[in-house]
Formats: sequence, structure tokens, C-alpha cells
Amino acid sequence: MPEIKQLTPNVVNKIAAGEVVERPASVVKELLENSVDAGATRIDISIEKGGTDLIRVADNGCGIAPEQLHLALASHATSKIRSDEDLFRVGTLGFRGEALASISSVSQFTLRSRTPESDSGAEVVVSGGHPEPIAPCGCPVGTITEVRNLFFNTPARRKFLRTTQTEMSHCSEALTRIALANEGIHFSMKHNDRVVSELPATDSWRERIAALFGREISESLIAIESGDGPIRLRGFVARPEQNKASSRTQYVLLNGRHIRDRALLHALGEAYRGLLTVGRHPIAFLRLDMPPQDVDVNVHPTKLEVRFQESGRIYSQLLGTLRTRFLTTDLTAHVQPTSPDEDRPSPAGPTDPMGLAPEAESRALAQFLPWGDTGSSAPGRYSSSPSQDALPAVDAMFESRPGKQLELTRLDRPIQWSKDCPATSPAQADTDERSDQQQPSNIRVDSAHGMPRPAAIQIHDRYLISEDREGVVVVDQHALHERILFQRLKARVASESLESQKLLVPEPVALSPVEATAAIEARELLQKLGITIEPFGGDTILVSSYPALLANLGPAEIFRQMIDRLTSGDNRADLDELLDDMLHDIACKAAIKAGDRLSPEEVESLLAQRHDVESAHHCPHGRPTTLVFTREELDRRFKRT
Ligand code: ADP
Ligand code: MG
Repeated sequence: MPEIKQLTPNVVNKIAAGEVVERPASVVKELLENSVDAGATRIDISIEKGGTDLIRVADNGCGIAPEQLHLALASHATSKIRSDEDLFRVGTLGFRGEALASISSVSQFTLRSRTPESDSGAEVVVSGGHPEPIAPCGCPVGTITEVRNLFFNTPARRKFLRTTQTEMSHCSEALTRIALANEGIHFSMKHNDRVVSELPATDSWRERIAALFGREISESLIAIESGDGPIRLRGFVARPEQNKASSRTQYVLLNGRHIRDRALLHALGEAYRGLLTVGRHPIAFLRLDMPPQDVDVNVHPTKLEVRFQESGRIYSQLLGTLRTRFLTTDLTAHVQPTSPDEDRPSPAGPTDPMGLAPEAESRALAQFLPWGDTGSSAPGRYSSSPSQDALPAVDAMFESRPGKQLELTRLDRPIQWSKDCPATSPAQADTDERSDQQQPSNIRVDSAHGMPRPAAIQIHDRYLISEDREGVVVVDQHALHERILFQRLKARVASESLESQKLLVPEPVALSPVEATAAIEARELLQKLGITIEPFGGDTILVSSYPALLANLGPAEIFRQMIDRLTSGDNRADLDELLDDMLHDIACKAAIKAGDRLSPEEVESLLAQRHDVESAHHCPHGRPTTLVFTREELDRRFKRT
């Protein structure tokens, strides 16, 4: 019979350390949390070799009395809660009393502290979990915690450590999360004696965000706020042109604690649907405040995840707040001098452990002239849809494709399509428009100078250029038309008035068994889109009508695309989302393409509709339809200012 024995405290602490201390960054997090809980207004961090050699955190908080030092290191010893009831109204970052016990069991540890009442400090040294006697020492009021040679006695853990750079960037991230939530505290961080971040105390959250993530992001932030009973939501989200390749720049602070909540991040993603291209992620800094008893923070060893009592309500509150805000905000993309596509941190921010200063000026210049790098493989500001923008700019410039089938767009006849647009180069078009013999309707006379000026011109058969009060407005003809069609289609589907065209001879389409089943199950949905199908024996489906808008595309092709959507394994529960995606596909197919030459009337008609539809600033796939080059920016570039 194996004998059951109580484990020694040292082993218990090492087991706890396995959960709490994963890597140096975990130590940084725990020590910073303790300093914040101690009411510090200044916290200085020194790190050596990514935190594997040394992590030192010094604060000016309340300190620990000498006779309490040993207790601070004991497991399940805390000053932050007293009873089990307290567990459900935690107001501090820590409460388990586990961190110092765990950390000191896997490192060479020193805790030095002095309370304001005492005129000298005391220190305790712990090596691998064995505390030495308390000794007096000189130190300022506050606490200095030093962690050396992390995992020196747990080689398995030490083996898992990554490069200095990787560990350091995790440490920086730990600081970012805490500094973001505590803008009133001055933080500094050194790596190998080099200052990697200096964050002065501020009462402006935007200021702290700027210090951590750079001006560019902070200037593109849209403030949001809502209060629903006891739940208060505040914060910032970035305009869609500022986005990231990962969701890492999405911070949610719950009662001052950084958390990761899948539902909330999903709501954020939902709010940006149609504003970002596939694979790009919004930037957000959100503060959620609610009574501590409405949320359980005791569900995750490092408290990264929490459990809300009313998660559904919080989800809707976030989504609703963002949607309302976006509807009342002009989200037209403004071209900015520097690149937003840096997933590298700002030089000032602590997430720049190596002090790499990202320099993107030349790239920024290329972006400033979007026609200059169309089709190039350089990562541009916006990932473009390959089908539409694959043509290199030069090709588009010299290729004239008159008489391209443009009558696809019969929805409300939004544009008067002339079948044969004059095959002029942009330069010719310009001169044509200046000659008075046949003045197209989009030419207006500038009364001040008596010179006729076109409201807009088409260049490269893909961009429409015009001016407004702010500056030069560049519209992507395909993206804008796609958005217009999408909004109309959506309205038609909602009112069940989407025209469909009956086929004289229904078309059989052979599918795989999975596809055929999916198609039959989605019959009603397809009907809403104007696609009527029926089973035809085996895995063949008969298509008998399809959207009138797509008159000259093969019904089988459209149907197949819809089936791809249905079976694409996204596992989406939301039918509306699926319907939206299908409408995107239809709108994309029906819209004018890059490369389609437009008549001046068509240009005018298209631009006029820009102001009639919702979300005209982005195409349904999230690419911007419009870029504005502000006059100030142009003046700056031309060195006029
Ligand atoms: P917890 O934070 O969950 O209470 P810790 O093991 O992190 O547990 O810390 C144990 C106790 O040590 C804390 O409750 C606090 O009283 C004290 N302590 C730790 N760090 C500091 C500090 N920097 N300043 C003042 N007191 C501290
Ligand atoms: Mg703690």
C-alpha cells in the first residue's frame, strides 16, 4: 500500500510556482502587482538577460514591517483578504498570498523593505525556498524585491526559457499591461542597464497609451463610453486604418486588472466587421468597471481569465456601444505620414526591449502615393484583394479596355452605363475635359477663375480623384461600388424584394455529398438571395433561378461560390453573418472592377452615391473605399509649411 503523506511547504510552493511562475515575465507581473497594491507612485524595474539573471522591482509603496517579512514569503499569507467573503469582493490585484512564496522557491530571492514609520529597513534572503534570518539594512521607504537566477533549482523549467529577446519582450508586455491600467504611477524599466521605457505619471489615459504604443495609434483613437447600470465601459478603439496583424493590441482592463476574455474580444471583432480586411485586427483599449461581487477573479492561476455573472449583457453593451459610435463617426481613411503596419512597438514603449527604432519613412512615402506601389509586393497599408488589384499599375495605365461589359449593375440602375467609354488616357481625359466642345456633366465651373473643373477624374481605370474641403479624395471605384451594391442588396434581402431571374432551362450542378446536403439544408437562405434550387437525384442540384443582378455570370458558378461559403467549415452559428458573406460575394462579382473605364457620368453617379449609403468608407471586405490626402499633409510634403 503506498503511504499518503502531507507534502512539505517547499514542495507545495514549487508546485504552485509551476502554475504561477511560467517565465521571467510572470515574476515581473507578480512583483509589479504587489507594488501597485502597496500604493506605490513610482516603480522602477531592472532586468538582466531577459529576466533570467535578475529581476529587481523597487517601489515607494507602504513597505512591509520587519516582523512581517517572513510571513510575506509564506504561502497563503496575505494582507489583502481575511475571510472567504472577501474572496468575492476582491479590490486588489493580489489576494492568494502565493506569489512571493512561489517565486522565492525557484530563485535566489531578496526582499528588502521599510515602512514610513520606521527609520531603517530590514531584509530577508531566500535561496531555493529556504529563508535566512531577517537582517537590518539601509533602504528608502518602500520595497525592493530582487529575483536572481530564476529556475536555478528547476532545470526542466530553465530549459524551456527562450532567447533573451523573447523573454524580455514578455517582460515588457507584463509592464505594458500594468502600466496601461495605472497611468497615475511612474514606471521605468531598464534592461542590462539601458533604459527601455520611461513612463511618467499622467492623469490622461490617452497620454499613457501614447507613451506605450506611439503617437500614431493614440491619435487615431476614438473614445467610447457607456454606462449600463452598475457596469461602466470606457476606453478607446482605433480608427480602422490603424490595425494589426494580431489581436495583441486589444486590451481589456476589468476593475484595473488586465484580462483576456474571448467573448469581449469577439464583440470587438464583430463591431469591426466590414471595416478591416481578413487577417487584420482592431486596436482597442477598454476599461470595464463593475462591482467586484459581479465577477469571479478566482478562476485562473494568474487571474488572466475571469468569470462574469452577466457575460451576455457585457457582450451586448460593448458591441452596441461600438456600433453606435461607428455609425456616428466618419471613418474615412486619412493618409498619414508614417506606417501603421508596424507590429513593432514604438521606440518609447516598453515593448521595445532591444531599443530597435522602427523606421518606416521610405515606406510611408510610397504609401502616400497609393498608385505608386499598386501591385507591388511590398506590404502596403492595406492588404488588397488579389483578384482586383493584381494588375501592376503600369499595365492599368496603358491598357484601355473600352466596351467592357458594364451592365451588371442593374440594381436600381445606379449608374447610367455607357457601353463604349471613350478610350482616353488619363492625360487625354484631362485635356478633353478642358475643351468646351462636349462638356461632361461632372465638370463644374469654378466661378472664381472662370475655369471649368471636373468634379472627379478617373485614373488608371481604377481610382477616382476629387477634392473636398479637407484635401484630395481618392476613391477605389471597385471598393466603393461594391459597398453600394452590398448595402442595397442587404436592404432588398431584408425587405424580401431581391429580384431573381428564372432560368428557361434549370441548370444541373453536380456536387459532393456534403455540399449537396448543405445546399438542401440552406435552401431557404439561398432563396433569400434569389437562388432557387431543388434536388435532382443523387448529389446533383438543379438551379432554377438566381439573382438578377448577376445576369451575365453563370448561375452554376455563383451557386458553387455560395456552396463554398456554406461548407467552408467556419462553424458559424450566425446565419446573418453567413448571409452577409454571401452578399459580399454577390456585390463583389457585380461591382465594376479595377480596369473598367468609366464615363464622366458614371464617375459622377458613383461618387454621388457615396453619400447615400451607410459605411461607404469601407468596402464589405473591410478595405477602405476612400482615402483622403489632407491639404495640410500635402503642404507639409511640398515643404510649404
Ligand atoms: P498577495 O499579493 O496575493 O497578497 P504575495 O505573495 O504577492 O501575495 O505577497 C504577500 C504579501 O506581502 C502581500 O499581501 C503584501 O502584504 C506583502 N507585499 C508583497 N510585496 C509587497 C510590496 N511591494 N509592498 C508592500 N507589501 C508587499
Ligand atoms: Mg501578489
